[in-house]
Amino acid sequence: MTSFPAAARRVRDDALTPRARLLALRECALHFAPYGFRATWHHLVVNARIPQQLEDDLDSLRRAADELEEARAVWRERAAALQERRRREKAAGRRVPRRADRAFGDAIHLYCPDFEQHPTDRLVTVVRRVIAAHDSRADPIVTCVACGWALKGESRCCPDCGVLPQGGKRGHRPPWLAIGVAERWTKTWRRETSR
Ligand SMILES: [Zn+2]
Repeated sequence: MTSFPAAARRVRDDALTPRARLLALRECALHFAPYGFRATWHHLVVNARIPQQLEDDLDSLRRAADELEEARAVWRERAAALQERRRREKAAGRRVPRRADRAFGDAIHLYCPDFEQHPTDRLVTVVRRVIAAHDSRADPIVTCVACGWALKGESRCCPDCGVLPQGGKRGHRPPWLAIGVAERWTKTWRRETSR
C-alpha cells in the first residue's frame, strides 16, 4: 500500500482506468477512515454521489478524494500541534500526558457499529466538531462528540448520527446488525446504495 497522498494523486489521474481510480480511493479510505473503513466508504459513496457506472461521473471520485483529504489535513494539523505540545511538556519535565490527550491520540476513531448509520455532514465538519469537543473537555457520554446531540448518558449509539459514544469495537454490535450485512456491504461496494 502506498501513502495517502500518492493514492489521492492516482484517484485524480485521468490517465488511469476508472476502476484503478476507484481502488486508489479505497486505499485513501484505508489510510484515513474517521468512522472505520466501511462506514467511511459508505459516506463517500453517498456524499460524493459515486455512480454505479463510474464513467457516468468520474468527477465523483475526485470529490470523494477532496473530502477525505480536507478532513485528514485538519486532523493531521491538530495531531502535529498536540505532538509539539507534548514535546514541550516533556522537555519541561511532565512525563505523563494529560488524560484527555491520551484519549485523543493520533488517529480519529468514531466507531459506527452500523456502517450505514454515520454522520452525514462533510467529514471536515465532523473532524472540527470532535476537536472542539476535545478542547472543551466535553464528556462524550453526555454530548455526542460527532454531532453535539445530548446523549443523557446512554451507552447506545447516538440516535442522531450513529456514532457509539465510548468508541471501541467489542461487544457493542447489536446482533441484528449482522443480518444481511454482507449483502448490504456488497450493495454499497457496487454503489447500489440509496440514502
Ligand atoms: Zn451524534
